[in-house]
Amino acid sequence: MKITIIGGGLAGCEAAWQLASAGLEVDIYEMKTQKRTPAQTLSTMAELVCSNSLRSDRLTNAVGLLKAEMRKLDSLVMRAADATAVPAGGALAVDREGFSAYIDQIIKDHPLIHVHEEEITQIPQEGTVIIATGPLTSDALSDEISKLDGLSTLHFYDAAAPIVTSESLDMSKVFRMSRYERGDDYLNCPMDRDEYFAFVHALQTAETVAVHGFEEKSVFEGCMPIESMAKRGDMSIAFGPLKPVGLKDPRTNKEPFAVVQLRCDNYAGSLYNLVGFQTRLTFPEQRRVFGMIPGLENAEFARLGVMHRNTFISSPEFLDDTFRVINNERLYFAGQITGVEGYVESAASGLLVGITLAHRSKGLDVPHFSGKTAIGAMGRYVSTPNRRFQPMNCAFGLIDQLDVIPGEKRIRNKQLRYEKISERALAEVDAVISQMEQK
Ligand SMILES: Cc1cc2nc3c(=O)[nH]c(=O)nc-3n(C[C@H](O)[C@H](O)[C@H](O)COP(=O)(O)OP(=O)(O)OC[C@H]3O[C@@H](n4cnc5c(N)ncnc54)[C@H](O)[C@@H]3O)c2cc1C
Repeated sequence: MKITIIGGGLAGCEAAWQLASAGLEVDIYEMKTQKRTPAQTLSTMAELVCSNSLRSDRLTNAVGLLKAEMRKLDSLVMRAADATAVPAGGALAVDREGFSAYIDQIIKDHPLIHVHEEEITQIPQEGTVIIATGPLTSDALSDEISKLDGLSTLHFYDAAAPIVTSESLDMSKVFRMSRYERGDDYLNCPMDRDEYFAFVHALQTAETVAVHGFEEKSVFEGCMPIESMAKRGDMSIAFGPLKPVGLKDPRTNKEPFAVVQLRCDNYAGSLYNLVGFQTRLTFPEQRRVFGMIPGLENAEFARLGVMHRNTFISSPEFLDDTFRVINNERLYFAGQITGVEGYVESAASGLLVGITLAHRSKGLDVPHFSGKTAIGAMGRYVSTPNRRFQPMNCAFGLIDQLDVIPGEKRIRNKQLRYEKISERALAEVDAVISQMEQK
């Protein structure tokens, strides 16, 4: 059977790997060496276009659980992430170039995967097709997708954070520490009360880029520009990304009034991104306003924050829980374009599509991951009717809660409950894997 994957990003590469690992031949089309999206800078596949963090790696966090499930299912993205990890406390952050190069090489060297460096402008009319072209799907293909029966393509905008070079920071003002002293992976820029209010007022009044068609309400909450958050109230960012809890400045032995955190962005430790500082300020305004942060007065910006488009389909009316188009058996979608949000979630959807399709192609029963698992819960989210459908990160709220056993008390401690949910999910994944191995 001919299988074509359009898009060699996180989802496309993961799907190709799963299919090829099952012995199936795949053609994958990636346009970036011919035509880059505005967010891309590397020529290798599976590029992380903004933060280098794959977020929490703990089982008390839903994305930590999702990663654990993916590791069990031999995810290529997780292999690459583990092989290229950089220190980031309880999070899993990677060396951006190393991560992409790792995947690129495995995909290009695989004898069953044929990489074509070209843009696809029309959906192939033969064989099975996986569309994994991401939030910045090229215009021609977006047009084609929007013409598919029963679908209305949607667009909205996200914002990405700036990156500074570590050597340009004034380290006499900055201290190194992870929150609650769980290591020392972050750089922290402490602000006193006066510095904080001067900064917030500058942020609230700074000039922003006019984005045609942009609507404030359409910004995804989890990626809200820092200036939009600041405009909600003088203290809003002090309770958000600038919260000082668990960060005692060793020089004063006190928590500062507010703290800007910087997270390492590469192995060498030469680049740091401003955590939570997605922005649509103009470039000169970013230099002026972010230069008010203690320690960043002379910061060199390796990248400034940018606005970007995010294309996603109205999946609930269109896809089943295996990411297959309901009225077109040979067409699948995977990745951010389906309305899952985030690097890990995008890769996870590619993994699910890969496993599903491998089984269908061989005439085998499709493995079922229920809503008790993080991966199954993501598939259920995109395929469940929802008039207000919005891209969504993996969250415990999407995963089935624990059954209440008659006579037993409900577990009130949230961390403990999440641990139990994770334990149950990983046991289900193990059971599905053993069923797959018996086939
Ligand atoms: C600017 C930006 C910042 C983001 N920041 C974060 C972040 O910090 N953390 C996070 O978790 N998520 C972030 N996301 C969201 C999302 O997790 C990533 O976009 C992720 O890479 C999505 O994975 P994907 O595989 O769906 O798409 P992508 O990784 O974008 O892969 C799609 C691939 O398809 C290719 N392509 C597109 N059209 C065609 C075509 N017609 N023919 C052939 N190839 C094509 C592209 O070149 C690309 O390589 C961000 C998204 C954007 C756009």
